Amino acid sequence: MFFYRSPRVFSFSDNYRIIYYHVVSNERKSYQFGHLSVSDFDSQIDFFKKRYKIISLKDAVNRFKNGLSLSNHLSITTDDGFIENFTNIAPILLKKKVSATFFLIENCIDNLDLMWRNKLLYIVNKSDKNLELLAESVESKFGIEPIKKSESLLDWAERTWPMDIKDIISNFLWEISDLENLDNFLEKQKPYMSTNQIRVLLDNGFDIGIHTKSHPFCNKLEFDVLSEEIIASSRRLGIKFNRKVNFASYPFGVRPSFNLEKKLLTESQIQVLLGINSKITNTREPFKWERDKQDSSYNSVNWLRFNCLPYLKSLL
Ligand SMILES: [Zn+2]
Repeated sequence: MFFYRSPRVFSFSDNYRIIYYHVVSNERKSYQFGHLSVSDFDSQIDFFKKRYKIISLKDAVNRFKNGLSLSNHLSITTDDGFIENFTNIAPILLKKKVSATFFLIENCIDNLDLMWRNKLLYIVNKSDKNLELLAESVESKFGIEPIKKSESLLDWAERTWPMDIKDIISNFLWEISDLENLDNFLEKQKPYMSTNQIRVLLDNGFDIGIHTKSHPFCNKLEFDVLSEEIIASSRRLGIKFNRKVNFASYPFGVRPSFNLEKKLLTESQIQVLLGINSKITNTREPFKWERDKQDSSYNSVNWLRFNCLPYLKSLL
């Protein structure tokens, strides 16, 4: 493929980069977001291997603690714990002898639930019902602000739904959408990795982190809920997999307020809290590290992201 043979455009000392993916596949499933899926992962890893020293997040934290430079280093992460981590991503990384950290949604492990945004997407893609009427039913039952004209179901949910009842609302919407029963859907589709599959990844040297219990917008939570979503959830994951789970990535990359984040760190063993902000360079403490979205296949539009992002970051 042409991009990884292209010459290095700039010569500069890169800052530490953490990139993240969701799904690697040639296939598009109706519950997966197209913009969170890549098909040229294999070539992308070759591209990054040529330009960076790829290390695990754990090694990066250790280097930081020991005062060693992270310049020109890069770590790979994925979010949400989809089955493609096991079937498509891990095999490629193993072949290339590259490590990664997989951030999991606790409620979705073993296919016990489908994350609420993916439920909404599936409803939009698959239900024959009128979406405006579906939204109206939610508005009256839960006292939610009405959907705006030309607003998508997903945008409306993001704008108006209280985070503590997002799962109840999305389940209600699924029920009135004339779709198959959710349990049957999960049993048939198996969107996520099982506990055993995650154990196999750990046995192969990969690492895991917490991507919260139920994937809320963390800036909309009170501390007790935030604590349950991150602290309690990471502890449960630690017990389940018999290891310390003290790396967390925020859903949507959205951080809570400075004070809540400070409390989160004081009351837990969490060491890494990952947001999403390509403009910030990772020279600060690991709980302030930011990731670069890399769910983009290489094409002319994304040329800049692949070749110039670190350069642009170094200028900011
Ligand atoms: Zn996520």
